This record gives sequence, structure tokens and C-alpha cells, in this order.
Amino acid sequence: MDVIPYGRQSVDREDVERVAGAVAGEWLTQGPGVAAFEEALAEVCDVPYAVAFSSGTAALHGAAFAAGLTPGDTLLTSALTFAASANCGVYLGAEPAFADIDPATLNMSAETATAVPAKAIVPVDFAGLPAPVDEIRATLGDDVALIQDASHSLGARHADGRPVGCCDHVDMTTFSFHPVKPVTSAEGGMVTTRSEELADRLRRFRTHGFVRESERLRRGDEGAWYHEQHDLGFNYRLSDVHSALGLSQLRRLEEFVGRRNEVAERYRAALADVPSVELPPAAPPGGLHGYHLFVIRHPERRRLYDGLRAEGILAQVHYLPVYWHPYYMDRYGFREGLCPEAEAYYRSCLSLPCFPGLGEDDQQRVIDAVRRLA
Ligand SMILES: *Cc1c(COP(=O)(O)O)cnc(C)c1O
Repeated sequence: MDVIPYGRQSVDREDVERVAGAVAGEWLTQGPGVAAFEEALAEVCDVPYAVAFSSGTAALHGAAFAAGLTPGDTLLTSALTFAASANCGVYLGAEPAFADIDPATLNMSAETATAVPAKAIVPVDFAGLPAPVDEIRATLGDDVALIQDASHSLGARHADGRPVGCCDHVDMTTFSFHPVKPVTSAEGGMVTTRSEELADRLRRFRTHGFVRESERLRRGDEGAWYHEQHDLGFNYRLSDVHSALGLSQLRRLEEFVGRRNEVAERYRAALADVPSVELPPAAPPGGLHGYHLFVIRHPERRRLYDGLRAEGILAQVHYLPVYWHPYYMDRYGFREGLCPEAEAYYRSCLSLPCFPGLGEDDQQRVIDAVRRLA
């Protein structure tokens, strides 16, 4: 019996050919493929600037840097997210803080986002449902830097129909191209923004903090080879090989999100009459869910998880509240009870297999097993 994972990439022949072309090409890294991928993503998001990074985590680190976070500042993110949404501030010496989720959306709300005053806030589009960034901006004003972690939601749409990544209400949006994410470049990430200044800081941070533009050089014109380090940056560059895969995958973004929505609707119809299963929040009218994850809640999550696993169905749990990780408890003194909704969610949640290549027979196997075990 085949194992069914919770998520899996969908790579076609054209993807393979384009990657082969990049490998055989002249650049391998830092060539025209990176710029082509950035331009294509900016177009998808209807935003002027997109800056590629070597991972979604590096993209978040870059965004936190560009937002000007320094030691003593506070970065607030959702309690219900992957650790990197909080780690990105810690890398810069900022204090981490956590907002509880609204159980109706599983995202932070304008209300919970004000739990602790923060210099930067990282709303997370959990499972692919865009967070209410317009309401968060309206409540908090322009003083706070908003960095939308859209690792789950490329291809999704806000309630006003605008694409995730457009940055209408946030300073920056970050994406991840890990294989289980909406599209993949194997490893990779991107930050979108409407600010030329932020785009510039992001590019500098990606390459060691180097500056090359002659009018900015401290020592003036030393020759065409010359560059200076003005900030402590990293090597967070994405390669041309990875960019070739990412650009090729973007061709099928709409198809992927459409397939994920079909899988989700089938689960909804097939599990609606199971009393112990709580189905996930849907997108509001006018919006579009990305369904990176199809998340259900069940009072006996452990039994359901183990039962599915015994049948080769590898459901997954997303996420342990970030501040429950021992690093956060030991270093910052976080305790259980801080975000009750996120904690209750963690205890009951399960992500069922949901990805574009999930076949009807395999999904039926999942449905039958959940109905039998639930
Ligand atoms: C995957 C993910 C990241 C990190 O992305 P990587 O590309 O794996 O570094 C950050 N935030 C969230 C919410 C994610 O799901």
C-alpha cells in the first residue's frame, strides 16, 4: 500500500527540461534566471518589486532587517506558525511576542495583534487563508512594520479579490518555495514590496551588505571593480538553477491552487456529516483560499493520527505554538496559557493530505479512513 504524505510537489517534464537548461547554462547562480523569476512573481502579485532569497526563512530574515529591527525592538507574530516567523526577529536581537489566533480564521486578528506593542508584526496566512491585514493596518496605523508571512498562500486572494503579495496593506510579503509549498524551487524564498527603499535594503542584505552604486560609495570612485560593505548581510542568494524551477512552476500556479480547492471541497462534502470532525474556515466571499493545508479538528487527535499512520496515511500536525518550543520557554520565560486559542487548536488539529497531485482514489482512501476512525 502506497504511503500518502500530507503534501508533495508536482514537477512536470517542462520543469525538468528548464532546470536542465539552467544547469547546462553559463551562470548557475546570480544570472538572468533570478531576475526572470523575480519579475514573474512580481507580476503574479501585481507589485513593483520582488527580491529572491535562498529560502523562506532567509526572506523573513531579510524583511525583518529591512524593517529596521534592532536589539530591544519587539517582533510580534502568530502563536500558530512555523518557528521561522518568530526566529527572524530573534536573529536581529529583537524580543519575540505572540498574538493568539481568532478560531474563526486561525489567523491573528486586528484585536489579538495589539496584545503587545511591537515595532514589527508578522501576520501569517495560516493554511493558505489570507490574514486580515487591512484591518490590522487600520487598527495599528503606519508606525508598525507589517510583514505578511505568505509561505502558505501564494496564489490566494484577499477578500477584495487582490492577490496575496500585492502589499496594499503591508510593507512586505514573504514567500517560501519549499517542496510542500504552493510552488517550489526546491529551496527558495521571495519578498515583495511597493517600496523601492525596502527592495534596496533587501538586495543589500542578500549579498553581504555590499553597496556598488558609485554615488553611495564612501571612498568614491576606486574603479569599476569596487564595492563596500555598509551593513552586516549574508549570502542569501538564490541560484539560477533554483530560479529556473521556480519560474517554470509559476506557469501552473493557478492550476495548482484550483486543484487544492477541488481537493478541499471534496473533503468538505465527504466529512460534513461526521460530528467529531470540525472542518476548516473557508475563504470569505470575494477571496480565494490557497489550501496549502486542509486542517481539521478532532477531540482525539492522537488516536486519529496514529490510526491514519497505521494505514500509510501521513497526516501532520501544524503547529506547536511557537513559544512552547523549549528555546522560547527557556530563553524568554514564555509559559503555557499565553494564547489559549492557539493552544486548544494545537491539541486538536490535524492536516489531511492535500496537494495538486492527490488522486481521487488516494483521497477516497483518506476519506474512508477518517470516517471509520473518527
Ligand atoms: C515553510 C515556512 C517558512 C520557512 O520557509 P523555508 O523556505 O522552509 O525556509 C516560514 N513560515 C512559514 C509559515 C512556513 O510555512
